[in-house]
Formats: sequence, structure tokens, C-alpha cells
Amino acid sequence: MKAAIIGAGLGGLLSGAKLSKGGYEIEIFERLPFIGGRFANLEYKGFKLSTGALHMIPHGSRGPLAQMLREVGAGVTIIDSKPTAVIRMNNDTEIGFKDFQKHLPLTKSIKLGTILLYSRQFKPKSNISFKDWILKYFDDDFLLKLADSFCGWALSLRAKDVPAHEMLEIIDNMYLYKGSGVPLGGCGAVTGALANVIKSNGGKIHTNVCLDKIIIDKEKARGVSAGGRTIDADIIISDIGHPGTAGMYECRDEAYLGRINKAKPSKGIKICLSSDEPLIGHSGVFFTPYAERINGINEVTNADPTLAPPGKHLIMSHQTVISDDLNHEINLGFLDLKKLFPDKKYEVLLVQSYSNGWPVNRASSGSDVGSRTPVQNLYVVGDGAKGKGGIEVEGVALGVMNVMKEMWV
Ligand SMILES: Cc1cc2nc3c(=O)[nH]c(=O)nc-3n(C[C@H](O)[C@H](O)[C@H](O)COP(=O)(O)OP(=O)(O)OC[C@H]3O[C@@H](n4cnc5c(N)ncnc54)[C@H](O)[C@@H]3O)c2cc1C
Repeated sequence: MKAAIIGAGLGGLLSGAKLSKGGYEIEIFERLPFIGGRFANLEYKGFKLSTGALHMIPHGSRGPLAQMLREVGAGVTIIDSKPTAVIRMNNDTEIGFKDFQKHLPLTKSIKLGTILLYSRQFKPKSNISFKDWILKYFDDDFLLKLADSFCGWALSLRAKDVPAHEMLEIIDNMYLYKGSGVPLGGCGAVTGALANVIKSNGGKIHTNVCLDKIIIDKEKARGVSAGGRTIDADIIISDIGHPGTAGMYECRDEAYLGRINKAKPSKGIKICLSSDEPLIGHSGVFFTPYAERINGINEVTNADPTLAPPGKHLIMSHQTVISDDLNHEINLGFLDLKKLFPDKKYEVLLVQSYSNGWPVNRASSGSDVGSRTPVQNLYVVGDGAKGKGGIEVEGVALGVMNVMKEMWV
């Protein structure tokens, strides 16, 4: 059996590694000159910056991505963050993430504990937003700010844009798999290790090949083509999201088109800083609920010093995009950094913004429509088809797992 994969991002490479281990003949086609998509390293002045991700794996060495990497034999070491996260409060003090409940009035804290313990019963069936759900049960300003900071950091959304049922699945997964980690060598080490697995199993990865068509015959995918050259395959896996995939063949399923066009990408801004002294001092997430725009910051060199030149730290802030004026959003991010670190010296390495065809998530969390398409043997993977409750690359891994189950691999 042969599988052709469109795109060598994390979703495409994870699928390729799993299928090549399962005996499939694999060919992956990537339009760019490099593999990894938004999970690749970008070398700059001796720093390992990235094409997208903040070098973090949301559930560290215990999560779904780590599990899949072990399963396929990809040699990746994940350093779990210690502490998982810290919250910068409005009086400039810091508290451990696990202690946030102590900062709520006692009745609200007990109520929150009960709801999280029996979260299954409390999952709303409606599409009520996480913000409205908090207002309904707690009406607490600190909790709302923390929710915005968490959703902004982890999903590049505001709490008002995430359905509460998805957020409660995410919280369940946080209890199940625990906190984040940093892969040694950054995100490029993960996608590089997957490419090695594919190649060692005889699979082929072609870069600089932009596929333009999915060939369908009698409602079944039969192959792909690039510039008139056809590649026959039994299974097609697309890592470019549902709308991009549907655009590669004549999709006439109006119900499917209606569903996939509702899923909007999430937008974000990342500011990369260099500093001689640590700004944060640990490898966990630094949540900033009281900042104007920045939702969170990490300092990955506390987990992997090789991500920066000797004696330097690499710090990355992330913020969701609120207005259409990107320059204004970036300037507010800079002002936040000044207020958060008034006495510290740092250099701005790079500012990156993400939207449209190169977003933070192709389908914002809670708007994923699964991996199936109206065409037999054509599946979508990646962050346009995440599994339920999966934050970013954990969602990518859960989505790939779902496809593999369906294919009996
Ligand atoms: C600022 C930012 C910070 C983030 N931080 C984190 C983080 O710390 N942790 C985390 O878990 N996640 C993070 N993410 C999200 C994570 O990077 C993505 O979810 C993940 O990398 C998406 O992988 P993918 O395979 O779905 O898509 P992609 O990486 O986009 O891969 C798709 C590939 O398909 C290729 N392609 C497209 N069209 C064609 C075609 N016609 N023919 C051939 N190839 C094609 C593209 O060039 C691309 O390489 C972040 C994202 C951003 C932008």
C-alpha cells in the first residue's frame, strides 16, 4: 500500500513515520525548501528561533505527542518544565500555577474544585464560550484574566472565542498528562527525528514540490499531481487543513464545505528576546494575566541552553492578535515587556506575526471538524484537524492517532 502525504509539517511527518513503521510505502511532498512547517528551527545569530512554535510541547514527556514519538522510535528527549508555570500577579508578585485557586474567595475556590472533579457532568452541551461559562459560575475578574492569559498563550484565542466544552476537555487533559516540556534541540529536533524514522523505513521526502491537485476517481482518492506529473497512491493524507485540501479537487459536498469554512485560524504575535541574565529563571510558562497584550512568556534556555549561544538566554513572548492593526498590537507587546521587566537588559532578536496561510492554528481550538473528508481514502491531519481537548501539537498527535485507528495502523 502506498500513501502520498501533502506537506511535511508535524502532522504529515507523524503520519508518515507511523505509516512507514506499519509497512506503507511513503512519499511526502513539501512545497518549501525545508521540512517541519511551523515546527522547524530558524538559525539566527547563533540562536535557534523557530518558524512558529515556542519550542514547547504542551504535555511534555507524558503527553500524546511524546507517546507517538516513542511508538515510532523517534529519538527525542523532552525536558519537563519545572515548575509547570508561574503567574505574574497585578502587584508584581509571582505565584505557582497550581496555587491560583488559593487566590479566589473560599466559596468560589470550593465550587471550582468540585466542578473540575466532576467535570464530565459540568461539560456544557451548548457552544457557550469559556468566558460566559466563567461568568455564569464564578463572575470573578482574576479568573477571567487568567483564562484569557491561558487561552491566549496555549490557543492564541481569548476566553470568549473558545467553547467551554473544549476548554474543559483541555483542562481534563492537563490533569491526565500534566504540564509542558521542551524538546532538546527545539522543535526542529522533533521534526528532524521523524524525518529520520521515515527515511530509515524507506520513505521519501521531497522538498520544493508544491502539489496542485488531488486526483479523485469514483469518489475515491487515487493520487496527487504537481505541475502535470501524477503520483499514484492508495491513501492520501493532507497536512494543509480542510479548506486547502478541498481546494485541490472539485468538492461539491455543500454540508462539508459549510462546516470547514466555519473553522477560522487563530492569529498570534511572537517576540524573541536575547538576554545575558535570565528574565524568568525557570523552564515553565510565565503567565501574564495583567499585561495589556502579552499572554505568556517562556525562557527555553533554562531547559536547553543550546538554544542560544553560550552565556545567552532565549526568551519568547506570545500574544493573541486583538485588533487588525498589527503595528499597534506589536507596540503594546513591547510596552508590556517594559513593564514586566523594568530593570532588566534584553535585546529584541525578532518579531513574528502569524495569520491567514501561516497561522498559529489552522482551525482554532473547538472549531476542528475531524480528519474525515467526503472522499474515500483522503484524510486531513495537522492543526486543522486536531483531536478533542488537544492543545496545539498534542492536538496534532491526537488527530493523527484518530486517522491511524481508522486505517487500522
Ligand atoms: C507563534 C506560534 C507559536 C506556537 N507555539 C507552539 C508551542 O510552543 N507548542 C505547540 O505545541 N504548538 C505551538 N504552535 C502551533 C504549532 O506550531 C502548530 O500547531 C504545528 O506546527 C502545525 O503543524 P501542521 O503539520 O499542522 O502544519 P504545518 O506546520 O503548517 O505544515 C504543513 C506543511 O504543508 C506544506 N504545504 C502547504 N501546501 C502545500 C502543497 N500544496 N504542497 C506541498 N506542501 C504544502 C507547508 O509548506 C507546511 O510545511 C505555535 C504556532 C505559532 C505560529
